[in-house]
Amino acid sequence: MSRDVLAAVVTTPGRAPELQTVSLDDPRPGEVLVRLAATGICATDLHFSHDVSRPSVLGHEGAGHVEEWGEGVSRFAVGDAVIASFARCGTCLRCRTGEPAYCREFDRLNFTGGRADGSSTITVDGAGAYAHFLGQSSFATHMLVRESSLVALPAGVDPAAVAPYGCGLMTGAGAVLNVLKPGPADTVAVFGAGTVGLAAVMAAAAAGAREVVVVDLSTERLALAKELGATRTVLPEELAATLAEVAPDGVDHAVESTGVGRVLHTAVESLNRRGTCAVVGIGAETTISLDWRTVLNGRTVTGVISGSSLPDVAIPSLLALAEAGRFPAEKLMQSFAFADVAEAWEHTRSGAVVKAVLTF
Ligand SMILES: [Zn+2]
Ligand SMILES: [Zn+2]
Repeated sequence: MSRDVLAAVVTTPGRAPELQTVSLDDPRPGEVLVRLAATGICATDLHFSHDVSRPSVLGHEGAGHVEEWGEGVSRFAVGDAVIASFARCGTCLRCRTGEPAYCREFDRLNFTGGRADGSSTITVDGAGAYAHFLGQSSFATHMLVRESSLVALPAGVDPAAVAPYGCGLMTGAGAVLNVLKPGPADTVAVFGAGTVGLAAVMAAAAAGAREVVVVDLSTERLALAKELGATRTVLPEELAATLAEVAPDGVDHAVESTGVGRVLHTAVESLNRRGTCAVVGIGAETTISLDWRTVLNGRTVTGVISGSSLPDVAIPSLLALAEAGRFPAEKLMQSFAFADVAEAWEHTRSGAVVKAVLTF
């Protein structure tokens, strides 16, 4: 059985999604039907829109209310406010030890366009669409999500206001709070001031790092970074002089969020001995080269998926930090009606908006 829902569908590679009525399955065992209140648009959605080979419903920062569920779901009731994150198997070693971002089934469950058994959750014009994207496909009025991907929102939190906590915000903040863990004497450099980079800035400031240096090409983004807690904001050509001043031996921690190879190179070269660079983004390049001695001298380059977060812990923690005024993520967000998805998409692509949030 299925129902008709309104979705934003990408049919042509690289083009903005367009609204269309599609057919969404009824929830199967372990699945929850969520009525969306809002969804963020993430750079990963744009990235995947470039190589669609069939109608695709993207979107993976959904939040809303529980409507129905399949057999075996026990944690939710009708109307519960929930936020979704990535899918995980729940049974592999990483899932069982609280690191679901490194689930052995991560790619299969999140990026193959359907459920684990290969079926699609959405039918477009009579054929299975590329859907269940990152366990969601939140560019629609409703989505099917595995129960384990859902986090109950604390009482009083409006799902329409917090959707991006499920991916972009958790990713940047988690890289700092779960992986780098800066102390009060430490210096942090953040490369790229998009949602992920700016979330890292807010987290580093909240953690009390001595210096938070932000590098970006846009002076508007740098001004925003300053507002969010950066102590120094620089254009790339100003970085060396600033580091000579605030971290002459190199920074203790770096976050690379641009996905550009030469920026990653600069980020690693800017580290102090024993420093760590968290790599959170990927771009067109798939290989990088690093000076052997740079790495040999005790430096670490580590990849970080979804902030190495356990969403059930990370999301409520960040929301509490936000409630206390120490994680002002609302300054990144701009809301658009779902009907204006093309406009929101274009503003995301151009960089005019940091985090576009579609509201339903
Ligand atoms: Zn994302
Ligand atoms: Zn797993």
